[in-house]
Amino acid sequence: MQILFLGAPGAGKGTQCKKLAEKLSLPHLSSGDMLREAVKQGTKAGIEAKSFMDKGLLVTDDVLIKMFKEFLSKKEMDKGFILDGFPRNLPQAESLSTLLTELSKKLTVVINLQTSDDLLVDRITGRRVCPNKECNAVYHIKYFPSQKEGVCDKCQTELSHRSDDKPEVVKQRLQTYAEQTEPLIKYYGDQGLVKTVNGEGEADEVFNNLVKALQVTA
Ligand code: AMP
Repeated sequence: MQILFLGAPGAGKGTQCKKLAEKLSLPHLSSGDMLREAVKQGTKAGIEAKSFMDKGLLVTDDVLIKMFKEFLSKKEMDKGFILDGFPRNLPQAESLSTLLTELSKKLTVVINLQTSDDLLVDRITGRRVCPNKECNAVYHIKYFPSQKEGVCDKCQTELSHRSDDKPEVVKQRLQTYAEQTEPLIKYYGDQGLVKTVNGEGEADEVFNNLVKALQVTA
């Protein structure tokens, strides 16, 4: 299966994609995780990306397209993949379509993970993440706290608060989503690919909605 996730920041894409990737044994390609890793490594793309990310704006299309071209061309993607965070605007969606045609692949389904705006802000500002790239676990101070405060349950790394999860940047990220990414729901809807999933509630509950929509067994 080639699955693409759409959803506002805080809708729970990362959490659900990780669970689904594990269940279906598919690679999970998260543009945000890739960019944060590039920032940490101090690569040319990372240095360029950081200033956009810190403001809640989209990083230049070329950076993302190059990144995904490299990943999607890998042999291990032949069994399928889960795209999380790419594409984020119409030019990226068109580039993805060209790329998939070149690779003789196509999207199976686009999941639109839907949540109310109030919930999004609460979810993002309380989010804490494990910065270990082999783990990348996600917690929430209220809804899903780690057992020991500030420490990852899985790998014991100190948790961090993403710099773009601060309230002043969150507002811009939500606006960027509404203006540039939301139109993709119609773009893929016109291709008959979109399934909308209710993203409100506990992570396991949302996951059940997701597997039902995908018609795979929970
Ligand atoms: P995320 O972790 O998906 O919320 O992404 C964090 C930040 O990375 C976003 O606010 C953007 O600045 C940047 N980013 C992630 N994916 C993309 C993309 N497909 N195009 C441009 N910028 C992106």
